[in-house]
Amino acid sequence: MKKALLLTNCCLLSFALSAQTVVNRDPFITQMVGEVSGDSLRAHIEKLVSFGTRHTLSSTTDPRRGIGAARRWILSKFQQYAKQSNGRLTAQIDSWTLQPDGRRIDKPVEMGNVMATLKGTDPNDNRIFLVSGHLDSRVTDVMNRTADAPGANDDGSGTAAVIELCRVMSKRGFPATILFLTVSGEEQGLLGAEHLAERARKENWNLEALLNNDIMGSNHSHDTRVIDNTRVRVFSEGLPGYQTDSVAAYIRQYGLENDGKSRQLARYTKEVGERYVDQLEVVMVYRNDRFLRGGDHTPFVTRGFPAVRITEMNENFQHQHQDLRTQEGVEYGDYLKFMDFDYLRKNTAMNLAVLANLAKAPAMPQNVTVEARNLTNTTSLFWQAPKSGRVKGYYVLMRETHWPFWQKKFFTDKNGLTLPYSKDHYFFAVQAVSEDGNESLPVLPRPSLR
Ligand SMILES: [Zn+2]
Repeated sequence: MKKALLLTNCCLLSFALSAQTVVNRDPFITQMVGEVSGDSLRAHIEKLVSFGTRHTLSSTTDPRRGIGAARRWILSKFQQYAKQSNGRLTAQIDSWTLQPDGRRIDKPVEMGNVMATLKGTDPNDNRIFLVSGHLDSRVTDVMNRTADAPGANDDGSGTAAVIELCRVMSKRGFPATILFLTVSGEEQGLLGAEHLAERARKENWNLEALLNNDIMGSNHSHDTRVIDNTRVRVFSEGLPGYQTDSVAAYIRQYGLENDGKSRQLARYTKEVGERYVDQLEVVMVYRNDRFLRGGDHTPFVTRGFPAVRITEMNENFQHQHQDLRTQEGVEYGDYLKFMDFDYLRKNTAMNLAVLANLAKAPAMPQNVTVEARNLTNTTSLFWQAPKSGRVKGYYVLMRETHWPFWQKKFFTDKNGLTLPYSKDHYFFAVQAVSEDGNESLPVLPRPSLR
């Protein structure tokens, strides 16, 4: 009896020590998350693999083999989904010609990014949210354009995810615009992403987030033999690389080295992704990318757009960038049979939850400031309503300066809030929130000194 009592007390104590999290899901998003299908993802990848190779320098005219046939097939999928979109979804191949560059392009080549645009329903809302994968594939020699290069995971996984997101989301309307993108030329030097990022900069797109999906459908490493389909990585840079010089003094003064726009997006991705997808932990990696590797988010990051890379937890380097062969008993190559479609389903659903929550949310609050004229042990924040979207109120987010995630959020329907917590030892940010609970990206306050 005594033992039983002791046990009960221990349990109570451990419960008291761990905070509870309330999971509030928007039923509209939950329903879409449930429509993401592993079978459908598998079918998309089977088709992508059937083109033999999708190398950027492979045939653009052969009806069955090569990158041209793959691009036309992706376009046909987007056009098929356009029919269910009430005219909101349009699809195109954004094409251009590249001349030999002395690096990984050795002949004039016709390039093409296959894109579908789900136009926002609110004409006052000019926000764009972008999700991408790369459709090109490769083997050991990056210039080998003839060998079979199935690219099931690299990056059939990201490409299939983009197609699947378009399938599920194009049936619905969102206030903001969502762009579904599959690029060419990633393996030849991020050429397709470079092309679109430059276009976005020149045309002054209000691009608030890019989720770049590259290698996210396999769950076991070849060397450590870790098998885990419950975790996925989101890579983000902390310092804003494109403007570090001009704002270095500001970042140093306020300790904002961990709060660049891409890092904020990574936090948001973790919080919203885990809210909607069960048995998935989104692991934030505080780096722009892995060793020896690059990705399509980088041309966007360097132009000041918030962008992250989503990649599986335990990569299998025997399956990436490899000639198809068996050597000393090991089978090399990026085959479909090495993939885990339930894992890919969860990672795709995570993308969906983040995109949908962003595109449904009001825009970010404007002119967010923290009162900094007086020495106080409190924090007063002020802001103005966002440019677009219907606002139920605002969340003021708070975390200790050494903490990776936001720890608390306070709701208010006013345009300001004073909290009895010192601005000296917490970070704060403000999100606009819709009637259905969809939050904008958080905005860090600027100190108001006069
Ligand atoms: Zn890749």
